[in-house]
Amino acid sequence: MTEKRDYYEVLGVSKNSSDGDIRKAFRSLARKFHPDKNPNDSEAEKKFKEVQEAYAILSNPEERRKYDTFGHSGHGSSPFGPGGFQGVNISLDDLFGGGFDGIFNQFFGSSRRRSSKGDDLIYRHTVPFQVAMDGSEEEIEIQALRNCIECDGSGSNSPDKVKICPACDGRGRVERLERLGPFTQRAVSDCPSCEGRGKIIPDPCNSCGGQGMSQQSKKVKFTVPPGISSGVRLRMRGHGGASRSENGAPGDLYIEIEMHRHPWFERDSSDLLMGLPVGFSDLALGSKIELSHIDGKPLVVNISAGSQPGDTIEIKGRGLPIQGSSRRGSVMVVLKLDIPKKLSRDQKKTISSISDILGSNLDNVEERIREEASRRRG
Ligand SMILES: [Zn+2]
Ligand SMILES: [Zn+2]
Repeated sequence: MTEKRDYYEVLGVSKNSSDGDIRKAFRSLARKFHPDKNPNDSEAEKKFKEVQEAYAILSNPEERRKYDTFGHSGHGSSPFGPGGFQGVNISLDDLFGGGFDGIFNQFFGSSRRRSSKGDDLIYRHTVPFQVAMDGSEEEIEIQALRNCIECDGSGSNSPDKVKICPACDGRGRVERLERLGPFTQRAVSDCPSCEGRGKIIPDPCNSCGGQGMSQQSKKVKFTVPPGISSGVRLRMRGHGGASRSENGAPGDLYIEIEMHRHPWFERDSSDLLMGLPVGFSDLALGSKIELSHIDGKPLVVNISAGSQPGDTIEIKGRGLPIQGSSRRGSVMVVLKLDIPKKLSRDQKKTISSISDILGSNLDNVEERIREEASRRRG
């Protein structure tokens, strides 16, 4: 297996680059290595995938933080388990779908055919971390293109003077036959005479300039399911902008959920990861620690005697709800040895007397190193 390249290196950006820089770098590399531009080039395809993966991680604040902290999964004693990060689903559709206007047009410079569907909209909505546990009902106010109030969508100050477009018979679209070699193809496009509106407006409305549409605010209610994570997009069909052409379908609204950080948990899908700083005696003698938890019941961490710093304690069934199931993930507690930075004279004395009893780490150092290695290798 070849070593995974550093995600920042893949995108050619520095560790502290902004989200904007990362997006810019991704777009330019995705354009360069896109399979449609490099047909039958497996090297480019590999690069393209690598770039997508790097972007999927670095564009998601939670994943980026985890990557910055733990690096690639599967390295040594990663607390994410042998499988590493599970399934970051990457496709250009996910990255740019819906609200982001046609990356493909930017890729290939093709002029987009005017579509009769209304605009897709994307809204980011931030929720508290607790929503990942409980789910919630949310309401947002969005600005979307809707029928103009002044002219009731007619586009005219005097609606009775509005005429049906003769070129398209009011349908807003025209059909023509295109000849392609031996084939003829039916092509549908917006009517050029009325720009797809299906009507001719002699006395345009002052408020909307004859468009019959204006930006208006609108309240949208939606349900956030338990187990949701940052970056997920909820699709609200038909809640986007109204269509500019007669009888066109409205666009969709995508609500991208952004979640506040928990004060100590990091997420790995439905598992919750945390570090627990404990003292030498907690590890050596064992200890029981109780924490308040997101499900309202105390979380009890049982540290068994003889634990090592870096050991992970898995508490099953106390993580976040697993979507589409009644089960919950685990809480993974990584034990961290917390050594006080400053010691009083008395403390120093006591510690050095413990050292006298247990023996200093400098005795038999090679033997200790060997033991550590065999423990680590299992
Ligand atoms: Zn027309
Ligand atoms: Zn109007």
